[in-house]
Amino acid sequence: FDMFVLAFVERLFRPTFRKDDFVLGKKLGEGSFGVVYRVSLSKKRSSEEGEYVLKKATEYGAVEIWMNERVRRACGNSCADFVYGFLEKSSKKGPEYWLLWKYEGESTLAGLMQSKEFPYNVETIILGKVQDLPKGLERENKIIQTIMRQLLFALDGLHSTGIVHRDIKPQNIIFSEGSRAFKIIDLGAAADLRVGINYIPKEFLLDPRYSAPEQYIMSTQTPSAPSAPVAAALSPVLWQMNLPDRFDIYSIGLIFLQMAFPSLRSDSNLIQFNRQLKRCEYDLTAWRKLVEPRANADLRRGFELVDLDGGIGWELLTSMVRYKARQRISAKAALAHPYFDRQGLLALSVMQ
Ligand code: ADP
Ligand code: MG
Repeated sequence: FDMFVLAFVERLFRPTFRKDDFVLGKKLGEGSFGVVYRVSLSKKRSSEEGEYVLKKATEYGAVEIWMNERVRRACGNSCADFVYGFLEKSSKKGPEYWLLWKYEGESTLAGLMQSKEFPYNVETIILGKVQDLPKGLERENKIIQTIMRQLLFALDGLHSTGIVHRDIKPQNIIFSEGSRAFKIIDLGAAADLRVGINYIPKEFLLDPRYSAPEQYIMSTQTPSAPSAPVAAALSPVLWQMNLPDRFDIYSIGLIFLQMAFPSLRSDSNLIQFNRQLKRCEYDLTAWRKLVEPRANADLRRGFELVDLDGGIGWELLTSMVRYKARQRISAKAALAHPYFDRQGLLALSVMQ
């Protein structure tokens, strides 16, 4: 009960916003559920500094606001800084939900990974300076390890809060210039299993490029969404039974794979990889046996990278990309994996 009062009071004293407080800037994204703009505040609110991001969303925006409010209180560092959300009725297109975040920066992991400079471009933004060191596998591995640690740290925050993201992909990971670390964005498809919000919506389409083979994150035998108090009491049990968080782990595993293997960064090659993996019954070791004998230099270099330090990277990778959800490692266990024993980029060992 106290938690609800606190949340209410906190929300009451935060600045509120309305439609004409904003000046729309560049369009940053457009999905089937909304449009995202960079915005600044209009003159009458110019005392409040800063750049913002505004999403005008359809009816799904209600859930997204709810998720963002919850994340803000429970694991604020995992996701982009949420500022405010409200229902805007006066739009021509009918009711719209408007969501406002702090502008975290211009780089998504997707954009960074598309650059020929990856992963060195990430090293530069994390450290805030260019390192004048020879390039090579060891250094790349260190950068990728640092990124993976940040991603798992953010994901562990969400999972410990009881939230499964369900749309983890490089496009939904933003580099926060303020905290010099990656954060997760786009809670539009997230599910909160503790209170049964957005519980297996049938109409929701998962991104086939990054989604785990299971169609439902909860067992199909679980009855439809229970009422909130029942769900709250049952959820630790359901969570243990179904391990829905492992859906996100599979997606993070694919991102790890793409970072290690440059040739898998393009959409078409990722789709081809997914087809091969399916043919191998989602057994990554079988996939390796299939492609390694006739691998090009690019692919061989990827295997070399994950084989560093006695193959500890490959070990972590294969514990994330697995067919059976319950055989996949959790975010928390992954953070304790020996892959992370070695020091990453120095900036991070100071921060975490
Ligand atoms: P969509 O539903 O369109 O996928 P997202 O929430 O993923 O909406 O946002 C779309 C794009 O807007 C992101 O890929 C990112 O480039 C940008 N973006 C979203 N939130 C932020 C933020 N807080 N700071 C900076 N850019 C953001
Ligand atoms: Mg998105």
